[in-house]
Amino acid sequence: MATNRTFTMIKPDAVEAGNIGGILRMIEEGGFKIVAMKYVQLSAQIAGKFYEVHSARPFYGELCEYMSSGPIVAAILEKENAVADFRNLIGATNPAEAAEGTIRKIYAKSIAANAVHGSDSDENAQIEGSFFFSQFERF
Ligand code: UDP
Ligand code: MG
Repeated sequence: MATNRTFTMIKPDAVEAGNIGGILRMIEEGGFKIVAMKYVQLSAQIAGKFYEVHSARPFYGELCEYMSSGPIVAAILEKENAVADFRNLIGATNPAEAAEGTIRKIYAKSIAANAVHGSDSDENAQIEGSFFFSQFERF
């Protein structure tokens, strides 16, 4: 079932570089409504839990280390066709392959430090949003 919501994180490289504002502006100008948002720093253990689906991939250890290296901004976004439209707005995982005008093309430093996360399905958007935002918060 499509929920018209997706989940995003502004990753440590983009927060450190002072790009929260620029990225949120692109998100809002892209037609997404921010329905929940928080600024937090993950432990390596919690980052490992979030990215558990990637635990067999060679970059998993570095990914967990990187995602816990500094604060992030986590948010739930709302828009019709949110998951697919947001993947289009952020661009390819590797910024070298990301289309012009996408968030990753503009802000990502590398395939690992690629500025933003975007859910890849409605199901994962729901799981990932619930990972960060409790059922007791109203959003
Ligand atoms: N990643 C990496 N090296 C790779 C592929 C991915 O460091 O070769 C990192 C990168 O930060 C990416 C995250 O792992 O955003 C999750 O990978 P995925 O394939 O799900 O890419 P995404 O959905 O974020 O585009
Ligand atoms: Mg992914």
